[in-house]
Amino acid sequence: MDHSDSPRPGTPPTDGPVTQAYAASIRDRLGVLGIPETYGVDRGLTLQPEADVLEVVRVVADGRRIELQPDVAAAWRAMVAAAGAEGITLLLISGFRSVQRQQEILERKRAAGETIESILRVNAAPGYSEHHTGRAVDIGTPGCPPLEERFEETSAYGWLSRNAGRFGFFLSYPRGNPNGIVYEPWHWLHRVGDPG
Ligand SMILES: [Zn+2]
Repeated sequence: MDHSDSPRPGTPPTDGPVTQAYAASIRDRLGVLGIPETYGVDRGLTLQPEADVLEVVRVVADGRRIELQPDVAAAWRAMVAAAGAEGITLLLISGFRSVQRQQEILERKRAAGETIESILRVNAAPGYSEHHTGRAVDIGTPGCPPLEERFEETSAYGWLSRNAGRFGFFLSYPRGNPNGIVYEPWHWLHRVGDPG
């Protein structure tokens, strides 16, 4: 099914242009990781700007702070409340992630012996993760281990499929996405403006 009005994965959702200096810094990072400069073009992914204004939405038991852009935080809270009113619990598993942090994640996996091709099926290259924007959320629900495909079998996922669009959230990486990224039923991007 083709939804011509659905957001295209990789479309910069936010915040002004990506500067040349930012693009150059990302090229350097790709070089360090051994990722071809053509990565974005090859995957149909565009550079994602890094959020500069963030709000803490959740503090996890280990002290980790999960942050989102303020308007996304407001949309998230409204969605959580609406779901809760129908007996559905939505948990924020992750939000903003810096470019530097993304680089560290990939470096650690590579140091552990994974090939860069294998890593890039699961993780976006630094500069290309929607989490850099502070507009992407990974969503969990009690009784389902986080970040697993079986999230799609939960009532929370069913609720999101029917209702998330009303709050501006859209699934970024559906099954068989053209970006070579594994299916992520838990990963939703908040789009600026009226989805129409
Ligand atoms: Zn995600």
